[in-house]
Amino acid sequence: MAINQKSYDYGAAKSSIREIAAYGAARKAQIGAQNVFDFSLGNPSVPAPDAVRASIVRNAALPASQLHGYTPAAGLPAARQAVADSLNRRFQTSYEPGDLYLTCGAAAAISITLHAIVNPGDEVIVIAPYFPEYRVWIETAGATCVEVMADATTFQVDTAAVDAAITPNTKAVIIDSPNNPVGAVYTRQTLLSLASVLSGRSDELGHPIYLVSDEPYREITYGAEVPWVPAIYDRTIVCYSYSKSLSLPGERIGWALVPNTNPDHDELVLAVAGAGRKLGFVCAPALFQRVLIDCVDEPTNVEAYARNREALAGGLRGLGYTCIEPEGAFYLWVKSLEPDAEAFFRRARDLELLPVPSNSFGCEGWVRLGYCVSYETIVGSMPAWQKLAESYR
Ligand code: PLP
Repeated sequence: MAINQKSYDYGAAKSSIREIAAYGAARKAQIGAQNVFDFSLGNPSVPAPDAVRASIVRNAALPASQLHGYTPAAGLPAARQAVADSLNRRFQTSYEPGDLYLTCGAAAAISITLHAIVNPGDEVIVIAPYFPEYRVWIETAGATCVEVMADATTFQVDTAAVDAAITPNTKAVIIDSPNNPVGAVYTRQTLLSLASVLSGRSDELGHPIYLVSDEPYREITYGAEVPWVPAIYDRTIVCYSYSKSLSLPGERIGWALVPNTNPDHDELVLAVAGAGRKLGFVCAPALFQRVLIDCVDEPTNVEAYARNREALAGGLRGLGYTCIEPEGAFYLWVKSLEPDAEAFFRRARDLELLPVPSNSFGCEGWVRLGYCVSYETIVGSMPAWQKLAESYR
């Protein structure tokens, strides 16, 4: 084949989440939006804060050359300063603008981070069930994706299993808390235990194992503490995005942070900049860099998600479904009523319910329901969930 086989394969395989969402959109056009219950996508249902619009309007008055011009590759110093100041206030740190690289969302932040740290033949551990794009980004960076199952009951990281999966080629572990797809928030105890494994094994192997902490849902929690990971494990790189916290997924704005407490800080900062350059991920959207200066501390509206969570988890439990109580993010992890989650999905789809089967996330027997939808969608879906449960009795 004259073109790149791997890229062709990724394009041909498509993302099953996006496939389900596309099916949902087509079905809505056929039978009416109110008759299709699409829980597939993680597209925030709450609007961006008013302050975002006000900032856009104010910035739109800037001279065009300034408004639309290139920024430095890593982002405007003032925007990086605003992010660093915000982190310093919240986590008692002393980060500087140079520790941050602004990106097109968490996707670019994670890709850049992986390209900054791995070499061909390296292995990167993910905690299954996991966000499926991790595999694509890891493989694209030239490494191998190694899946380690989370604890089957709590969905916390099984640190003994991580320990067992580490080989001389292990370069990094990616964690995601609050977690997509399960909704777990990793406890301080879990993170301390993981840190102890990673630092012990790094010493033993004679090379660092980095922890990539992917945190787009940090602000979406229902009371759980979300510990600041670099304060627990020093070889952490944090990847963040405003896609969920400020409901700006289409604007593509986020960052990678190399904390100044990371022992490899100076090399990593250059490697991150080089990875951005290598991938062409320079100069994140300029307008939204400016919006960050105004809105970095805007609170996330969690109330709507909290209400949805209660209605969905409570409603499904009332119908006899087993689900994991989400402590954060906006996903409900529901046990499939048969071992084959794909077959369960197809039966749900026949009733116009669109969850995502767990096979997409690297495990069997569950489905994920994104409850970043309208409250009416949740309430309206209950008769179909009831029919689905009855069809298994
Ligand atoms: N990481 C996780 C766990 C996600 O759920 C998502 C998006 O849904 C991303 C990364 C990518 O986020 P972004 O839209 O900021 O690129």
